[in-house]
Amino acid sequence: MQNRRNFIKNVSLISLGGILAGKSDLANAATLSVHAKKKIGLQTYSLGNELYEDLPGGLKRISQMGYSTLELAGYRDGKINNVEMREFRKMAEDAGLKIISSHLNPPVREYTSSNKGEIADFWKKAADDHAQIGVSYMIQPGLPSTRSTEEVSLVCDVFNEAGRIAKANGLIFGYHNHDMEFARVIPGGKEMVFGRRAFGRNMPEGTEVIYDGFLRQTDAKLVIFELDVYWCVMGQNDPVEYMRKYPDRIRLLHIKDRAVLGQSGMMNFENIFTQAYENGIQDYFVELEGLPSGTQFEGVKKCADYLLKAPFVK
Ligand code: MG
Repeated sequence: MQNRRNFIKNVSLISLGGILAGKSDLANAATLSVHAKKKIGLQTYSLGNELYEDLPGGLKRISQMGYSTLELAGYRDGKINNVEMREFRKMAEDAGLKIISSHLNPPVREYTSSNKGEIADFWKKAADDHAQIGVSYMIQPGLPSTRSTEEVSLVCDVFNEAGRIAKANGLIFGYHNHDMEFARVIPGGKEMVFGRRAFGRNMPEGTEVIYDGFLRQTDAKLVIFELDVYWCVMGQNDPVEYMRKYPDRIRLLHIKDRAVLGQSGMMNFENIFTQAYENGIQDYFVELEGLPSGTQFEGVKKCADYLLKAPFVK
C-alpha cells in the first residue's frame, strides 16, 4: 500500500535516479567527447623547411590544427635535421604531440653482400638513438636498387636484418612505398619495368611485382609495411585491395593525395579509412607534397580540416 511517506520516498528515489541518470549522461558525454577526438598523425616532411624556422612554435601550430602524433623525417647522425633528438622530443611533448615513428634510409642504395655489415651498423646506431626517445617505428621510405628478383631477395634479407636489430631494441622496422615498388622484375633481369604491359603478354616465369616480393620474402615477425595510399594509386594499384590481402602486414598508412587531401579526384579516402578500421590500423600520417600555392603550414592545416570534417574518419 502506498502511503504518503512511501510516495514521497519513491518520488525522491525517482528524482534521485533522474539526477544520477543525468549525471551519468554527462559523464558519458564527457567520455564520448574525449573519444571523439580524432587521432591524426603528421609526417613532418610535409612542412619542409617551414617547420624549422621556429620549431617549438611550429609544433604548437601543428597541435592546434588537431594533429596529435608525429612521424619524423630527416634523421642523420643521431639528429633530426640537426636538432638533437631529445630536444625535439621535449619540444613535441611541450606542444602535446607524441612522436611515434621516424623515416630514415641507410647510407647506401645499392645493397650487396659486402655492404650488408655497413647497413646493419647504420640500423644499430639508429635503433639506439630512436629507442632513447621512445619512438615505436623506424620506417625506411627509400627503394634500394631492385633490378631483378635476385636483388629483391637480397633487399628482403637486409630488411629482415634491420627488423631483427629494431626488435632487439624494442622497436618495429617497416617499409614505406612510392610508385616504383609496383613495377615488375624478372629473374636475372637488368631493370624494373612499370605498367600492366611490363614484359609483354607472356611474362617470363618468376616475374614478380617488387612490393609483392617484399611482402612474400620479409619475415612477418620482423617487418611491417606502411602503405602510402597515394603512391599505391600512382603505382596503378588499389590500396584497399592490398589492405584486404595483407591485413597483418600493412600496419601503418600514409594518407596522401596529389596535394591537399580530398581535392583531387584520385583518392577514395572513405573506402581507405573503412578498410583501415576493419584491419584495426591504429596509426596513420598525413603527408603533403606538391602544394601548388600557399605555405606548407596552410596546406597541412587544410589536410587536418578535411579529416576532422570527414564523417568516415573516427
Ligand atoms: Mg609517403
